[in-house]
Amino acid sequence: MTIMNHQILLASRPKGEASTDNFKSVETPLAPLGDGQVLVRNQFLSLDPYMRGRMNDTKSYTAPQALNAVMGGGTVGTVVDSRNPQWHAGDTVATMLGWQDYGVSNGSDLRKIDMALAPISAYLGVLGMPGVTAWYGLNRICCPKAGETVAVSAASGAVGSVVGQLAKHQGCRVVGIAGGSVKCNYVTGELGFDACVDYKAGQLAADLQAAAPGGIDAYFDNVGGAVLDAVMLRMNAHGRIAVCGAIAGYDGAILSMANPGLILISRLKVQGFIVSEHMDDWPAALDEIGALFAAGKIKFRESVADGLASAPEALLGLLKGRNFGKQLVKLF
Ligand code: NDP
Repeated sequence: MTIMNHQILLASRPKGEASTDNFKSVETPLAPLGDGQVLVRNQFLSLDPYMRGRMNDTKSYTAPQALNAVMGGGTVGTVVDSRNPQWHAGDTVATMLGWQDYGVSNGSDLRKIDMALAPISAYLGVLGMPGVTAWYGLNRICCPKAGETVAVSAASGAVGSVVGQLAKHQGCRVVGIAGGSVKCNYVTGELGFDACVDYKAGQLAADLQAAAPGGIDAYFDNVGGAVLDAVMLRMNAHGRIAVCGAIAGYDGAILSMANPGLILISRLKVQGFIVSEHMDDWPAALDEIGALFAAGKIKFRESVADGLASAPEALLGLLKGRNFGKQLVKLF
């Protein structure tokens, strides 16, 4: 019997803010597997802010998402058929099969998942790319010393929540920045950050000063824009800023830096990075986070949308902060 595969394609590029009209849903019959191929039924799809950037055809660190092609994205799922001797029906794998119920792989890009350690979805978050992103930016760029103050924006999210918890384990004072009191209460109450500033409360500069009275030594920036400007004013001399993301500008807003002269005045190191360019660091990062996770010392939270059809709306919600923790789509 032919299996019909539900897929979501990029139908058009956004002009300004993205909308659900930019996506198209199709049903495609699955072809029989060729030699060496593996059929995976995707259980969870990861939604990530970078997907919005790939919807544009502009200068970037990566190629744009092709029009009328399946939206790319990280997935975890189960092998349901295999003509590859290395993979067997029932294997649980993490890979990048994109916005579709099923995907075909040649096996080389599959990573086996240890289901004894964590639920399968965690491999798209804390034990996957966002976890490694947090580890890399913190340890390779922010380089905090015990006793220093580390700040991180989008603090309740997939990357930010791990940044702060790792920094706490390194003996730092950790200040989160998040949108709204519910997220801030989670960041301090559940994740154990020392303070959290609600950047939507309308008094960012004063609240940052209260949360970090001795200034900020390292900042892990996930958002850019007005939040970055406010943090720059609180940076201590020789501070480090890891530029991980600029989500405030992903959906069409133009971002500018209010006072780049502060980089000189405070002798800051400001460095952008892309985690997929640092594959050599992934094993060490995943080992360290995995050990902390197994010991119950890293917590995470997920927002789960139901069914592939909900993915476009959920991605748009992520760009507006409607997610609370790692944004996933449950496919089956
Ligand atoms: P999150 O789970 O943190 O979700 C995104 C969050 O961003 C939202 O929940 C919202 O939180 C916040 N946000 C949205 N719009 C704004 C805005 N205008 N101003 C301030 N905050 C906003 O996502 P991830 O953890 O997956 O990603 C976090 C960042 O890390 C992104 O910028 C992403 O692009 C980047 N990234 C970079 C990588 C790299 O290799 N450089 C790899 C992976 C991620 P709130 O409600 O608190 O505002």
